[in-house]
Amino acid sequence: MKRREFIGGLGGGAALAACTPQTEQQGVSSSAERFSWKLVTTWLPNFPGLGTGVNTLARYIQEMSAGRMEITIYAAGELVPAFEVFDAVSQGSAEMGHGAAYYWRGKSEAAQFFATIPFGMNAHEQNAWLYYGGGLELWREVYEPFNLMPFPAGNTGVQMGGWFNRPIDSMSDLHGLKMRIPGIGGEVLRRAGGTPVNLPLSEIFTALQTGSIDATEWVSPYNDVAIGLHQAARYYYYPGWQEPAPTLECIINRDAWNSLPEDLQAIVRVACQATTLDMISEFMARNATALAQLQADENVEIRKFPDDVLTGLKELTYSVVDELAVDDPLFARVWDSAREFMAISQPWQAISEQAYLATQASS
Ligand code: CA
Repeated sequence: MKRREFIGGLGGGAALAACTPQTEQQGVSSSAERFSWKLVTTWLPNFPGLGTGVNTLARYIQEMSAGRMEITIYAAGELVPAFEVFDAVSQGSAEMGHGAAYYWRGKSEAAQFFATIPFGMNAHEQNAWLYYGGGLELWREVYEPFNLMPFPAGNTGVQMGGWFNRPIDSMSDLHGLKMRIPGIGGEVLRRAGGTPVNLPLSEIFTALQTGSIDATEWVSPYNDVAIGLHQAARYYYYPGWQEPAPTLECIINRDAWNSLPEDLQAIVRVACQATTLDMISEFMARNATALAQLQADENVEIRKFPDDVLTGLKELTYSVVDELAVDDPLFARVWDSAREFMAISQPWQAISEQAYLATQASS
């Protein structure tokens, strides 16, 4: 097959055409106009994996556009506070933002599906749903009233269940447990008899070390070791039922998006995809290294949640999600889409990734 026929046959011609000299023939508009955009984030500057992921995204866009797009990054609090990123981009005071959709449940409960929900999809499934299962179209619909264009731009992969100052042997051990755990996961803990609290990153370590909280989830070994959580509690539980695949997002003000020529739109779109691949790869590599460090630490016990605890938490999760669906038709539609996708992805996962990984574990 000739190269141009091959590119045309992919259907995603716009994305690839930017890399070819035949952009005019492919119908992709271009211009010499230069764009200088502000990118506001919910992360601390250069925070490992997340803040550095934003740096990667900006660098990809600047390099691929040969400087026609210049991106200035503002970490949390530098231009707007972390939790005002959505509004800042919606209103156009910044053209672009980076964060996670579950931070915006106050705008739309349905947004949470585009980050992660407890006992939801893993990263493979989440990307498959977004790109090939209708998820991205729903995400655009949810954000459209806010004048925002969303793109997946990063994923941490499955997180850890968190750090606990006492063992969790049964559901009754969650009674009275005061834990930093946001979102739907926090509501699930509350229904299990615990007390969810939300703390900013800067306060988590001290709260756990001083005993003002009994437990916290944060991310996974790479990020958790970076803020010293292994020095504040003994028991490190898995799996991260509360966040199986947090997708990070790049949000763009729609007026700013529409002002870009098509070739720059393609560059931004592909830079976001490339950032997802880069971040998931970085987390895999660095989590593995950090886990080895924790396994060698005699002050840390790495434990799996008992099966009946996971089953109990899963039942509570679905009761919370089903109640949200009763109150919010858009949430219900997105949940239907996600649930239908999981119903077909899980049987495939079971005989592919899961079955293969089982052979590795037993060898
Ligand atoms: Ca987390």
